[in-house]
Order: sequence, then C-alpha cells, then structure tokens
Amino acid sequence: MTHILGRTLPASVRADFPILATRPGAYLDNAATTHKPRAVLDALVEYYTTANSNVGRGYHELGRLSTDVYERARQDMRLALGAAQPEEVVFTTGTTDAVNAVVDGLGRRLLGPGRAVLVSGMEHNSNLLPWRRLAEETGGELLTAPVDRHGRVDLDAFTALLGPKVGLVAVSHVSNVLGTVNPVADLVAAAHRHGALVLVDGAQAVPHRPVDVRELDADFYCFSAHKVYGPMGTGVLYGKRELLDDLRPPRVGGGTVKGVSAVDPVRYVPVPQRLEAGTPNVAGAVGLAAALRYLDGLGRDAVRAHDEHLVRYAVRELGELPGVRVIGAPQETPSGIVSIVVDGVHPYDVGGHLDQHGIAVRSGVHCASTFLDALGLLGTVRLSFAVYNTESDVDAVVDALATVRPGVWTNEHPTTRFL
Ligand code: PMP
Repeated sequence: MTHILGRTLPASVRADFPILATRPGAYLDNAATTHKPRAVLDALVEYYTTANSNVGRGYHELGRLSTDVYERARQDMRLALGAAQPEEVVFTTGTTDAVNAVVDGLGRRLLGPGRAVLVSGMEHNSNLLPWRRLAEETGGELLTAPVDRHGRVDLDAFTALLGPKVGLVAVSHVSNVLGTVNPVADLVAAAHRHGALVLVDGAQAVPHRPVDVRELDADFYCFSAHKVYGPMGTGVLYGKRELLDDLRPPRVGGGTVKGVSAVDPVRYVPVPQRLEAGTPNVAGAVGLAAALRYLDGLGRDAVRAHDEHLVRYAVRELGELPGVRVIGAPQETPSGIVSIVVDGVHPYDVGGHLDQHGIAVRSGVHCASTFLDALGLLGTVRLSFAVYNTESDVDAVVDALATVRPGVWTNEHPTTRFL
C-alpha cells in the first residue's frame, strides 16, 4: 500500500473525495467545513432513493423503514460518543443549534440576579453569544476564565471563578482558532465539585479524536456533522438523560406530543423526540453516521497520527519562515489546526494571496474576536487539516508565503476585522 504523510493513511484517501478531483489546489479550511467522502454522498442518495419518508408518523412500510434508519443513526451516535443510551442523543442542525437548545431549555433556571455562567476566554461566538444574551436578559452574570498567552485556559483562574453562584460552565474541547486542546475531564471534575453543570462544545474535537462523553463526564456535548465529513445542517446534542428529561423543549410542534385536545394539558412524548419538533433531517443523520463509519474504516488512531504529523510538519516548516509566527503551541497537543501571523501583513491580505495560489485558508478572527483580543491579535491565518491533506499542501503555503506582501487591507484598512 502506498502511504502519505504520517505514513498512516493510504494515498487512496484522496480518491474518496470527489470534489478534490474537480478542484486542484490545497483546501486547508477544514475547521470551517470538511469535504464529503463518496461514502457520505452515496448514503444521502441511497436514503432518498430507498427510504425517503417522514419518521415516527405514518403507518406504512416506508415510514417504518425511514424511522428505523433514523433511529439506527442515533444508535450509531450513542456508540460513537460512548453515551449510555440512544435517548441521550438529540439531532440538531449543528453545534450552534445545540448550544441554543440548552440555553433556551435550561438557561433561565440557571441564570438570574446573583447567578452566573462561566465560559472560557477562547469560545466561538456560538458558545458565547447565547450565554451572553441570556445573561443580559436575566440580569445574571457571564464570567470568563482567562486564557494565557499560549491560548490555554488558565486552570487556577478557572477554578477560582467556580463557586456557588456558577450554575453552568460552557467550554470548548478544542479551540477553533489555535487548536488548543482543553483538559476537559479536569475542567468538568472541578466544575462538578462546585455543583456546576458543564456543556462542552466539541465541534473541533470530534473530527480529530475519539470522544467518550462518560469518560469526560460532560453533562452536555455538542458537535456539527459538516466538520466531520458529514452533511451540513445536522448536528448532535448529547445530554445526560435526567438533564434532557428536565430540559424545556426549545421548540414545540409536530412529533413531540402524545395527543393534543383543546381542553386537556398537552402530553409530550419522552426525549429525544420531545426535543426534536418538526420533521428532522433524517438524511443528515444518516449521512453523519456514514461519515463516522468512514472515519472508523480509516482507523481513528491512523487519522489522529496523520493529523498530528501534519500539524507538527506545518509548525516546523512555517516556523522557519522569516516574519511568520505560529500562534500558541499547536505542536504540543496537535489537533488539526495551526494559526499563523505574518508580521506587517494583514491576515486578509495573506488569505487573499494564498487564494490566488489556489490555497483555501480562513483569515481573520474565526468567530472568536474576544479570544483574539485576549491574544492581542488583529486576526490570524488558520490552516486546518483533514484526512486528505498532504505535506505538499503545507509546502504550497510555504512557497506562496515567500511572495506575500502588504496589500489593500494592510495599507488602507489596517485595523479592520470581520467575523
Ligand atoms: N464551535 C466551534 C468551536 C466551531 O468551530 C464552530 C464552527 N466554526 C461552531 C461552534 C459552530 O458550528 P456550526 O456553525 O456548525 O453550528
């Protein structure tokens, strides 16, 4: 077998992703979304050609088949996350939707005058703004655990902020800006000692490492399918059963009730269906299950070794370039992301320059401007890896950076940042 990169994944991996054949160049924006392997595309087509029907509703064969397929996908998520029961897996439209579901369903019981939610200083807006708005609306407090200059959560400061008023901690497993891996099990244990629940944003973790929610003892854990080779518009909210049972459904509607009459109180079905009002994205769930099976087929250890190799390779190669700084210490706990700054050149100019060389990266604040503020940076240029990336993708970045120059952003909008 021919091998690439960390000599862990077969070269044929690239052939599994049809889009790569249509677009030469280097796609290094996988933390934003990954490409989809043929196995996932086939699963979507197969679902719509063989099983398409609404779930949990019709008394007919296709309806039963579609329901079975959907519930099998839920069972696959239970296994993938190490959850105790499939009822602990709620399908959502993504991480953002999952966080908002917890905020809407539980938030007002957690937050109010004299009460607080604690987030880390590296959170993506999707795990920050829902809490911030809740704090503003309830008169509660939003506390932020500071990050050190390497972009790690300061554990002492984090622990010092815990206390009787903190009802919940919301923290990312892996930073989408620097790839920092948080010691989630330790953070959860500390939070639990102080009586706080913990929601973990796993959007950037699930693509790169096996996750066991029971080992972490997370109360809630969320991720998005599209960042782990699955379809857009699908995600997962894991929650401990007793917490989900207690969650006020963020939305009500079809599929959530045992029966409704004009006079009697509404009787809702148990979780997870109680939390999935309306027609679910069945094909999305099926595609996500196919994506995780695809990763399992490659071997989770091989995927991780590949990823670690690429991060270390990128840090070494980019770190040697004059004027280029690698931010944080991604080589210490590699997790698919390397963020750089080119001295004297606005990140958007760097991104535009790389784009002209056929290289897709994300430039800017990565929906985490408060983290960039804490790091004292205008923005970064983020390389994020997937199973189909190669050392030559990194080499292409290195070559292109040799000719990067200040452009219109640097000269005319030196302090402008978006998103
Ligand atoms: N959290 C993190 C850490 C992310 O990287 C992202 C996506 N950039 C999100 C949350 C939001 O995910 P989605 O847009 O799929 O809901």
